[in-house]
Amino acid sequence: MTYDFDLFVIGAGSGGVRASRISSGFGAKVAIAEEFRVGGTCVIRGCVPKKLFVYASHFSEDFEDARNFGWTVEGVSHDWKTLIANKDAEIDRLNGIYHNILSNNNVTLYENRAEILDAHTVKVGSETVTAKYILIATGGTPVMPDIPGIEYAISSNEAFHLDDLPKRVVVVGGGYIAVEFAGIFNGLGSEVIQLYRGEQILRGFDHDVQEMLAGEIRKKGVDLRVRSNPAKIEKSGDELIVTLEDGSQIKTDAIMYATGRKPNTEGLGLENAGVKLKENGAIAVDEFSRTSVENIYAVGDVTDRVALTPVAIHEGMAFAETVFDGKARAFDHSDVPSAVFSQPPVGTVGLSEADAREKYGDVDIYKSEFRPMKQTITQGGERAMVKLIVEPKSDRVVGVHVVGADAGEIIQGFGVAVKMGATKAQFDATVGVHPTLAEELVTLREKYTGD
Ligand code: NDP
Repeated sequence: MTYDFDLFVIGAGSGGVRASRISSGFGAKVAIAEEFRVGGTCVIRGCVPKKLFVYASHFSEDFEDARNFGWTVEGVSHDWKTLIANKDAEIDRLNGIYHNILSNNNVTLYENRAEILDAHTVKVGSETVTAKYILIATGGTPVMPDIPGIEYAISSNEAFHLDDLPKRVVVVGGGYIAVEFAGIFNGLGSEVIQLYRGEQILRGFDHDVQEMLAGEIRKKGVDLRVRSNPAKIEKSGDELIVTLEDGSQIKTDAIMYATGRKPNTEGLGLENAGVKLKENGAIAVDEFSRTSVENIYAVGDVTDRVALTPVAIHEGMAFAETVFDGKARAFDHSDVPSAVFSQPPVGTVGLSEADAREKYGDVDIYKSEFRPMKQTITQGGERAMVKLIVEPKSDRVVGVHVVGADAGEIIQGFGVAVKMGATKAQFDATVGVHPTLAEELVTLREKYTGD
């Protein structure tokens, strides 16, 4: 049977675009459909604009610190509209680059919503096209609980396009997006209350990271309240009144929910082809990203494995090699380094102490909490922490955690070491780069035995 395309990709985000480009490079005839903007969540309304916002917000602290380094800083103010305009211009530029990637690689772009009609047929706009393989890379979308007044809440999608910076903002959630946006709004000058329903933010992270970050966030002025959750939201004139589950109320100008994301599978026609979902609504795939239907694959957040852009890209490349280069490759989801662009940021790779104890029993802990050099002559008082988790029988370092300036940059290199199975002895044999925060990770000699 002949098809219009060898591959039809649904969703032009990080995973979909990479899979298209690489597959085309292997000689496949490829089409891709995108209903919103080419680039996907990360580029259009995720990692990229978020990081620009983080840079923007950090200046307030930098200006303060500058005084202690001898600078006279006067008349400093922030213009939200300039930030939004410059951010939008950069997103437009990247969107253009993604368009070029597709056209330079002979990938046919359908700027329309696609729906699967059967295992080899897709309806896209008013057209019907056939393909030997289909790749679903539709990503995820924010979810909010169904409480009265939730329609007054915004998600990260809207936070990137607000007309004005809210004077007061409530951020709900304790995950990546919530801590990042609490820091962004706080740095830009909003009064921020962050509400988290559980005991401690960043569930699943190492407990020292959680505690350290919660303390630092509070020190910087975010009113972080745990065991706290909204029950309803009402509008009263220009302000919002948030009633918490304990009955107390908060008046605010905006409320942002960052309470997780769900895979985008609705209206995709998955049932027409018999593509099976996991219990949580994500597409079920095997280690080669193949769904329950032989010729249909899925990568990225829609599969809810590790919801990170670089992971989606790796999954997309592994898919292309497996299907169009004849080299079956399963992407290994272990030891994926990641950063939370909170203030201060967090970098982490490998296991938390709790997970390492569960997996290995006894583990050795090395950690250090300290005042980073830059803070020695500032008023800020931001502290840093580094922590290593070592499996004693093999001496392998199975977890590296950093809280402090540039933690994301630092953890990238240590991610290589952990992926290679580096031992503590090899960490010790590595000479530190002085004076840096990162050198602490290769100079930890004393096992932590409790406070
Ligand atoms: P997360 O799953 O990380 O966090 C969701 C938060 O919302 C948790 O604190 C959760 O609490 C809370 N929550 C969930 N449901 C409710 C509810 N009904 N009421 C109140 N609180 C609730 O999701 P995010 O939206 O922050 O981010 C989604 C994913 O995107 C991340 O997991 C990550 O993979 C990715 N991401 C990565 C970034 C990076 O690499 N820097 C940045 C941004 C996103 P609880 O802990 O109790 O479940």
